[in-house]
Amino acid sequence: MIIILMGPPGCGKGTQAKLISKSRGIPQISTGDMLREAINDETEIGRRSSFYMDKGLLVPDELILNMIKERINKKDCDSGFILDGFPRTVNQAEALNKMLDEMNKKISAAIYIDVPDEEIVERITGRLVCVLCGKIYHKKYNPPENNEKCSCGGYLIQRPDDRQEVIRQRLKLYREETGPAIEFYSKRKLLEKIDAAGLSIDAVHQRISKILNITS
Ligand code: AMP
Repeated sequence: MIIILMGPPGCGKGTQAKLISKSRGIPQISTGDMLREAINDETEIGRRSSFYMDKGLLVPDELILNMIKERINKKDCDSGFILDGFPRTVNQAEALNKMLDEMNKKISAAIYIDVPDEEIVERITGRLVCVLCGKIYHKKYNPPENNEKCSCGGYLIQRPDDRQEVIRQRLKLYREETGPAIEFYSKRKLLEKIDAAGLSIDAVHQRISKILNITS
């Protein structure tokens, strides 16, 4: 089962990807998480990506596509995977199709979690991420039990690109670049849209599970 999670920044892709990964036993592949890890580890990819990420811009395809190709060819992806934050452009969607063709694999569904802009800004500015395990919290909607720390003991921080001024740039890029990629899957009858305005994490997860039960 190969699932693509799409939607604006802050729509809950990461949280939902983790839930599906747990319930279906397939890995979550988040390009954003992989890049942040590369920055922490001070690798060449990390050094080259941070310039773009800090400004809310897209990291060049040559870096992203190599990283994805290597990852989806790993053994733990044999029975499927969840893509979170990739593809983000039509060019990336076409490149993914080519990679999957070569592997003789097919996309099961592209799930589009739609949330209006006003809600996005509120969600992103309240978002907290664990520096150790990557678990995502929200100051208001999903607060940590211990005020400052994750359940694993790690410190919770605000992502540098979750600042107000960077969010606007990310939303603009999302409309310009990812909008056409969503259309790409709609035309191929692979798109399943969820109107997630005001919905809880649980409610969105239930809708996704229903879609996956039908498509699998
Ligand atoms: P995310 O965690 O998915 O919101 O991604 C954080 C940042 O990583 C984005 O704002 C981009 O700078 C970069 N990024 C993540 N995924 C991609 C991608 N598929 N293509 C280009 N840049 C990406």
